[in-house]
Amino acid sequence: MNNFFDVIIIGFGPTGGTLASLLAKSNLSILMLEKEKNLYPLPRAVHFDDEVMRVFETIGIKEKFKNYTIINKGTKFVDNKGNVLLDWPRPKEITENGCYPSYRFHQPDFERVIRHNLKSYKKFKSIQNANVKKIINSKDFVKVVFQDTETLKINIFKSKYLVGCDGANSITRKSIKSKFSNLGFTQKWAVIDLILNKKKNLPDRTIQYSNPKRPATYCRNVGKRRRWEFALKKNENEKKVLTDKFIWKFLQPWLKPNEAIIERKVIYTFKSAIANKWRNERVFIAGDAAHLMPPFMGQGMCAGIRDVSNLSWKIIHCVKKKHNEKILNSFQKERFSNVKEYIETTMKMGEFINAMRSYKISNTISDQSNGSKTMKSIKPELGPGLGSTLDKNRGRIFPKFNISKSKSFDELFSFEPILIVSKKLKLKKMSKKIKIVKESSYKELTKILKKFNADAILVRPDRFILQTFKKNNSLDNLIITNLKNFN
Ligand SMILES: Cc1cc2nc3c(=O)[nH]c(=O)nc-3n(C[C@H](O)[C@H](O)[C@H](O)COP(=O)(O)OP(=O)(O)OC[C@H]3O[C@@H](n4cnc5c(N)ncnc54)[C@H](O)[C@@H]3O)c2cc1C
Repeated sequence: MNNFFDVIIIGFGPTGGTLASLLAKSNLSILMLEKEKNLYPLPRAVHFDDEVMRVFETIGIKEKFKNYTIINKGTKFVDNKGNVLLDWPRPKEITENGCYPSYRFHQPDFERVIRHNLKSYKKFKSIQNANVKKIINSKDFVKVVFQDTETLKINIFKSKYLVGCDGANSITRKSIKSKFSNLGFTQKWAVIDLILNKKKNLPDRTIQYSNPKRPATYCRNVGKRRRWEFALKKNENEKKVLTDKFIWKFLQPWLKPNEAIIERKVIYTFKSAIANKWRNERVFIAGDAAHLMPPFMGQGMCAGIRDVSNLSWKIIHCVKKKHNEKILNSFQKERFSNVKEYIETTMKMGEFINAMRSYKISNTISDQSNGSKTMKSIKPELGPGLGSTLDKNRGRIFPKFNISKSKSFDELFSFEPILIVSKKLKLKKMSKKIKIVKESSYKELTKILKKFNADAILVRPDRFILQTFKKNNSLDNLIITNLKNFN
């Protein structure tokens, strides 16, 4: 095997697997290093959203993977008498990302599908049992030292860029001397995965039991799978909590022992943390390596996938054109505040479930005429980075639409932005600098230009709007100034 790659990725979890798939599509040579011999044995994530499904479509796994998912109907927060305190429905309608707002899945299914898909890329290599020990960052390349966990042999490989998707205890984060700040939520929870062996009338939604004695969560997972999570009390004996006797006593209100089998039982410490530095020269961190949040909103893995959707096209640009500091620096700038808002909202949700009952979870909660309260999903914006924040459309999602029965406009993107121009405009100097799509090409574009009140829209490969423009004499120059970021 050649020992020099465009990109080395450490960690074959959901973040690393998605990043590899995004990079492989642009024909980069990739080496994946993973210390585990097999798939990570504990299924953690059970939910993802529409933005993430659009990324799955980009990497070509949506059609296959959607067979392993169900549409999520939403979450109810109830008190210990079963009264609904807060409703967070997920309406079954198609969003601007062209899919349902929220899905439930079984993490090992996802990891199997993504690994299978990666096998089709000749320039993608992966090494299991590869425990990374050291990362050496130099001006023009990165060197990584890893040990085979079975033979104990030491190996050294090099790459132009390295991304540590190596989870909460990331060696990459330590190697770039990034501080992992605890944001304040630390609580032990038991997570019990069950497979029903009888038809049972259980809730079709996620239920958050905001019970001061024992906060708990019920998840309606795919097929016969169901999950219960419950908080441990202070000084509670972990071994005792994980005994079948204890678990079935906890499950008494819902299930009898002959109605399901326990597939997995584990205690996690739910934490909230964010790293203060996500890049040092050619080394990056993404996913749980850069941030952690409790799972109450089902957004930890989603955040990692958003990270790599943001980072991948920037790295591809630097590999194919030339190293560009401004583009690479924009990664943390754009992602940091976005993920922090998810972490903070999740923490407030955690407090609510812990029965502290402050409805200040987010400003998307509203009172209904019948006295109940409902919540909408939050949609944090991209932090300042590429494009001007004076443009109110910058950072908004470019809507997905189909250009033929089986082809979406998304498929026109590679790793560079696309400029959409209205019929009114005649751009003189542009066509050699960027891919231009004229309004007349697809009728949907007229509606989109109108929606954003724009005569031209520059869309990034991750489907965020980089900038919108109105017709004026210097439009050519304005767009060219914007594109300087990319040359
Ligand atoms: C109970 C629970 C429920 C959750 N539910 C959801 C949910 O519904 N939705 C959601 O979006 N998120 C959820 N999450 C969070 C989600 O599971 C994580 O955010 C996600 O798995 C992180 O993915 P990752 O790829 O960044 O890291 P990981 O999945 O931790 O993967 C890191 C990989 O790096 C490898 N690695 C580490 N160190 C090295 C090294 N030195 N050398 C080589 N390899 C290394 C590890 O073996 C591992 O395979 C949940 C978490 C928990 C605990």
